Amino acid sequence: MAAGVSVTILGTAQDGGIPQAGCSCERCKEAHKDLELRKYPVSLGILGADGSKHIVEVTKNLCEQLMIWTPDANELFIPETVSITHLHLGHVEGIGQFGKPVMALKEVDIFLSRDNKNIFDGRSDIELMIKENNIKTHSKDFYQSFEPKEGCGFSLQFIPIPHRSELGDTAAIIIKGNEKNILFMPDQDSWEETLEHYSKENIRDFLKMFDINEALIDGTFWSMEELPGRNISEIPHPTIQKSLQLLGRKMEDDPRISFLHLNHSNPVNDIGSKQRKLVEVNGWKISEIGDVLKL
Ligand SMILES: [Zn+2]
Ligand SMILES: [Zn+2]
Ligand SMILES: [Zn+2]
Repeated sequence: MAAGVSVTILGTAQDGGIPQAGCSCERCKEAHKDLELRKYPVSLGILGADGSKHIVEVTKNLCEQLMIWTPDANELFIPETVSITHLHLGHVEGIGQFGKPVMALKEVDIFLSRDNKNIFDGRSDIELMIKENNIKTHSKDFYQSFEPKEGCGFSLQFIPIPHRSELGDTAAIIIKGNEKNILFMPDQDSWEETLEHYSKENIRDFLKMFDINEALIDGTFWSMEELPGRNISEIPHPTIQKSLQLLGRKMEDDPRISFLHLNHSNPVNDIGSKQRKLVEVNGWKISEIGDVLKL
């Protein structure tokens, strides 16, 4: 099992992407001018050992992301399954692409938590795509491991994460290979709540609990001062500053940790920024589109 399973990072931004619609900040304006600076909302492409194609989250930039994922641009990858952490905009915005007006796919398996499936199935656009057989939605219980496709060489597991629940609940997804487990946790409200939920004292113990070798975690904001004019406490995410404080330096046996789900306002988006260097000096990483993790 797991020979050749690979996970490609297809997006590193928060739900709005970079540039964000209507934003006049310098970072967004630069990203309009220089396409290399664009960042798409978080998504992963998982290539199974059997060559099957699976994505996590389906974003407004699905079109560009499938191109990034595909090694041979002559025949673009088409996802056979999609697993979704939660129903906030950026994580599901591209689902309509599967329907009749665009890709007209057949029977793409969509995996969500039980609550999220009920809410998702109730959307009139989703109802139509189910009726027209573009997609089939499946609920998975938290902690239940499942293969998105038989023989794909890896399994997935949803675990619950405290996060604004106005549109259903929120999962992190553990991708399990033969020898390695990757945690994808793009959104959480705070480490306090997550650690309390799992009765763990610190981040290392939480990751150890699930045997995580590599963690892709919520790095939405660098600091609390980042969004002038908006009350950041209404958009709760732990800041990277806070995560660094809790983590300290990477030690020899620690899992690798990368930050993603970066808001357009976050200075770690800039390659040369001192904030990004501070993350790296401490032994951690900022995720980049196109990074490939082997399972
Ligand atoms: Zn998000
Ligand atoms: Zn901006
Ligand atoms: Zn969210």
